[in-house]
Amino acid sequence: MNSDEVIKEFRSSGALLEGHFKLSSGLHSRMYLQSALVLQFPNKAEVFGCAIAEKFSGKQIELVASPAIGGLIIGHEVARALGARFIWTERQDGQMILRRGFSVTPGEKTLVVEDVVTTGASTRETIVALQNAGADVVAAASIIDRSSGQADVGVPRIALATLDVRSFDPAECELCKEGTPAVKPGSRK
Ligand SMILES: [Zn+2]
Repeated sequence: MNSDEVIKEFRSSGALLEGHFKLSSGLHSRMYLQSALVLQFPNKAEVFGCAIAEKFSGKQIELVASPAIGGLIIGHEVARALGARFIWTERQDGQMILRRGFSVTPGEKTLVVEDVVTTGASTRETIVALQNAGADVVAAASIIDRSSGQADVGVPRIALATLDVRSFDPAECELCKEGTPAVKPGSRK
């Protein structure tokens, strides 16, 4: 599955919108990504999961771990395709941790999977939580990397598609200067 095919699937399910958006951070952007809208279709999630898993065939991945909530569906699909176990981290008092009795075997070969990497923060925090539990985190992966390859998570990282999605301070937004109004994604006009 190449980058164009991934983007096409996102577009056709409304998971990738182009226009002039006001993000929850307050910044403006030409693009809005909501991967839940494509991952709501299990057959599409399965195709992305298999495409990520393919890149790690022969790497003896024993465990896939993802940050909740965004990474749950895709992480599960990758684990299924690799025949690996699947667990997740979640935030408690701001810290990404393993809960629910999840444990890791010392040196367990682990792949950390997220839906979309923006700054890489959630992937990085998940890697640290797994390493603290004794895992050998060998790589990280996502369906989309919107950092144009810039996010550094401390282990080798791949993405099925890489985008350069810049966001702007409203005072410096090109689209505001052109006079088009910014819309909040998900709201109907
Ligand atoms: Zn704007």
